[in-house]
Amino acid sequence: MANLFAIYGANGCGRGIIPLARAQLAQAGIPADQLVFVDDNPPALEVNGHRVLTFEQFLAEDCVERYASLAIANSRIREMLAGRCIGAGVHFWNVRAANVVEMDEVALGDGAILSPFVTLTSNIRIGVHFQANLYSYVEHDCVIGDFVTFAPGVKCNGNVHIHDHAYIGSGAIIRQGIPGKPLVIGRGAVVGMGAVVTKDVPPGVTVVGNPARPLIKD
Ligand code: UDP
Repeated sequence: MANLFAIYGANGCGRGIIPLARAQLAQAGIPADQLVFVDDNPPALEVNGHRVLTFEQFLAEDCVERYASLAIANSRIREMLAGRCIGAGVHFWNVRAANVVEMDEVALGDGAILSPFVTLTSNIRIGVHFQANLYSYVEHDCVIGDFVTFAPGVKCNGNVHIHDHAYIGSGAIIRQGIPGKPLVIGRGAVVGMGAVVTKDVPPGVTVVGNPARPLIKD
C-alpha cells in the first residue's frame, strides 16, 4: 500500500497545479497514479489524466496516508476545506514548481502552492495555505499571514506585512515598507489587479488604481 496525494479543486487553479505536483512526485519516485484530484462537484471522472474523487471517495481509498493541497483561489473555501481535511486526518503538502527560487531563512507554512517563476527572497515568514501564482515574488523581511492569495505577477517588496485572507490581484505592486514600520495590508483586504499600493490598506478594504485607493462601488 502507498500514500495518496490530492489536489483539492479540479478547476482552473487545480489544473494549473497538478502538472507541478506530478513532476514533484516523479522527482521523489512516486508514480502519477498516486496523484488524484478531489472535488466536491466533480466535473468528470478524470481530468487531464488524473482521477477525480469526491472527498468521501478520497477517504475511502485504500492507502497508507492521505495528503492534500488546496488549489482553490477563494481563501474562505480553502480555510473551510482545511478544517475538513484536519478533521479527517488528511495531511497537507506543499506543491512547488521546480524553478521556484527560495533564498535564506524562509519559513513557509503547510499547504503552500508556489507556481512557476515564483521567488521568495530572504528572511520571510509565511502562514498556512499560501498561494503564489505565476511570476509572483516576495521580497526580504515580509510577513504573510494564513490563507493569503497572490494572483499572477504580484510584486511584493520588502518589509511588507500581509494579514490573513488578503487577496492580491494580478500584476499588483506593493511598495516596500521600512524596518520597524512595515507597509501593512489588513486582514481580508483585496488589492485590485495592476494596483500600485503606496500605503497601508485597512482590513477588509478593496483598493484599486495607481496610487491604490479604496474602491467606491456605484
Ligand atoms: N470546490 C470544491 N469544494 C468547495 C468549493 C469548490 O471541491 O467547497 C471545487 C469546485 O467544484 C470547482 C473548484 O473547486 O471544481 C473551484 O473552481 P473555481 O473555478 O471556482 O476556482 P479556481 O479553480 O479558479 O480557484
